[in-house]
Amino acid sequence: MRQVVLLRLSALGDILLSEPVPRWLKDEDPSCQVVYVTRQRFAQVVRGWPAVDRVLALPDRISTEDLRTLRRDLKLLGPHSRVDLHNTLRSHRIWPRAHARLPKHRLQKWLLVHGKALPASWRKDSMPVWRRYLELAGCLNPSEHLHPRLVVQGEVLRHGAARHDVLVPGAGFATKAWPEARWLDFLPLLLERGGPPILILGGAGEQVLGRRLAAMDPARVRSLCGETSLEESARLVAQARSVVCGDTGLLHMADAAGVPGVALFGSTTRELGFYPLGQRLRVLERELPCRPCSHVGRVRCPLGHQDCLAGISARQVLEALELSLERVEGTSC
Ligand code: SF4
Repeated sequence: MRQVVLLRLSALGDILLSEPVPRWLKDEDPSCQVVYVTRQRFAQVVRGWPAVDRVLALPDRISTEDLRTLRRDLKLLGPHSRVDLHNTLRSHRIWPRAHARLPKHRLQKWLLVHGKALPASWRKDSMPVWRRYLELAGCLNPSEHLHPRLVVQGEVLRHGAARHDVLVPGAGFATKAWPEARWLDFLPLLLERGGPPILILGGAGEQVLGRRLAAMDPARVRSLCGETSLEESARLVAQARSVVCGDTGLLHMADAAGVPGVALFGSTTRELGFYPLGQRLRVLERELPCRPCSHVGRVRCPLGHQDCLAGISARQVLEALELSLERVEGTSC
């Protein structure tokens, strides 16, 4: 019996985009046992994927004892292939020897960020990250059936109920988040249009902004920042009429579920591999010579103005949202 161990420790978006890999492995060989190594805080997401037989979870701060336990668990599995979908110093520490590691293309990224150049011979490597994961596992020509899906506790979530609009003001890095002032401009415009209730989703770091937004119309706007699990967030996103967000994990949830809306891209660009796959999300971004200024995001804009996102107005986002909804529902907000 073939056994494959996949390792991806973080972040949420990357893990969501690796969902096709265990599915493909099972499609190819239904007897294949798939084990997934990830962080404890993402383990609940991966445990919900039917193609994953077992999840080995590591804490945020990995101790020598944690490593010893993981190595013992892997040894007990018997012969298996190790596929490192992360390829960082940490993943090398966990697995000094892996059978396959995700190519990081550090030189390509450096050239893109610092020279704004993408050599033609490397264009292939600009493929979406989920395809790069599949390629590493051995799937070179994925069919549409292998596009990432939003799967929670074995259930494939698809856009449907349209119960509320979701706004996601935060992001893993400040340069990927639309500035607070723009959200405060945008919400009154959205409220003027009428429509369903509005939920603000995010982590504890967005609670203050979430409360300010909710205070604009407490009867219609509710902040759940810091209050929902990843599974609850996934269900709320899938049930949304629309989502407005930056380049975050919740963007990939919305994209995988086919939810319409607007994705705001700032310091990162398409070539880095995290663009939405579906046609329902409209991407708003500015053509600026400083983009991309990082391949993952920064804690602050090195130029001090964050024009890549600050230069996108609330009205532009509303117009893009209306177009996205019209295309899907034949209605506007
Ligand atoms: S404005 Fe330019 S330099 Fe500043 S965060 Fe955006 S992409 Fe980076």
